[in-house]
Amino acid sequence: MAAGHKVWRFEGGEPYMPTPAPVKEAMTKALAHNETRYAPSSGLEELRRAIIAKARSKNEIPADDDASIVVNGGMHGLFAAFATLLDPGDEVLMFSPYWTPIVDVIAYHGATPVLVPAAEARREGLTTALAKRKTAKTKLLYWNSPTNPTGDVFTRAECEETCAFVRDAGLAMISDEAYEDLIYEGDPHVSPASFPGMFERTLTVFTMSKTYSMTGWRAGYVLTPKRWRRAMQTIVLYSINGVSTPTQWAMLEALRLSDDFLREAKQGYRKRRDALVAGLQAAGFEIEPPRAALYLFPRIPAALGTDSAKAARTLLDGPRVATVPGVVFGPEGQGHLRFSFSVPEETIAGGVEALKTFSTEGVRAG
Ligand code: PMP
Repeated sequence: MAAGHKVWRFEGGEPYMPTPAPVKEAMTKALAHNETRYAPSSGLEELRRAIIAKARSKNEIPADDDASIVVNGGMHGLFAAFATLLDPGDEVLMFSPYWTPIVDVIAYHGATPVLVPAAEARREGLTTALAKRKTAKTKLLYWNSPTNPTGDVFTRAECEETCAFVRDAGLAMISDEAYEDLIYEGDPHVSPASFPGMFERTLTVFTMSKTYSMTGWRAGYVLTPKRWRRAMQTIVLYSINGVSTPTQWAMLEALRLSDDFLREAKQGYRKRRDALVAGLQAAGFEIEPPRAALYLFPRIPAALGTDSAKAARTLLDGPRVATVPGVVFGPEGQGHLRFSFSVPEETIAGGVEALKTFSTEGVRAG
């Protein structure tokens, strides 16, 4: 509600359903068993073993037994990964649009993000687009597939090509795989660290947030090769001294969940995605269903102009639809709005109706 008005909220970025019951019960059980003391700062042995087993079988990453570190969610894992690898003056290659905090985290470490427009890279070839922007200062490439905010998934061939570039240029890679499980059709997820010679130069960051509806638990993990392990462990030790012990037992339970939970969740996401795509198309947006993640990233209809901040404001003030202006995801996001489809079905129905009414009456009425 804003000034007493109902707002149709599409600006978030979280699973719409609650954390699965067995995960919640695992935390309750941990508390009942007084699992409330310090855990090893890099994580409980049982959990670290389960993470390695998952990384090897599901992600095909050739991780050794000690490669995992438990962190306070993807954001913390990314912060620790950038802190491990970056020195002031370094440059980081990253495709744009991108998830907003990344450029700030890079800048915090005194380094510079170097944006590679994803559309240009797809048009002209990834290697060409990356090589053009690589300098003597380039330290690493940040990779995020599936991608927030576009819901795009890089193909296996694109991932392989990027890895070859990273290897040939002697760079490191940070792979942000927050949405690895939220791919609705087409080819499965690919982890860059699964390609030959890549595990040794990649920090792979995972989170429980999206896959298991655990955004508020602040739980994730990073796979690190030996050369950066001590640095990552030290950063985690001195920043948080480990994730809360009951949370770690809940994480272990989540990793043991059967695929039924995800299968059902994905059905729900697909249904919402398709409903919102159809609704936005009916309201005058040009949009095709994205393959993954939780977001639609349509171009702004001509009647609303091309300035995404202004368009988002217009939609909030008029039909009371809250979105995120595309420009916050980089210059390549300008002219777009981000809608989350991970929202209640009533929000999709109500928001779409409001947009349709607005598109026929509102713009004309000013
Ligand atoms: N990476 C990407 C691309 C994201 O969109 C998010 C969350 N919006 C994260 C990482 C981090 O999520 P969390 O800190 O909840 O694990």
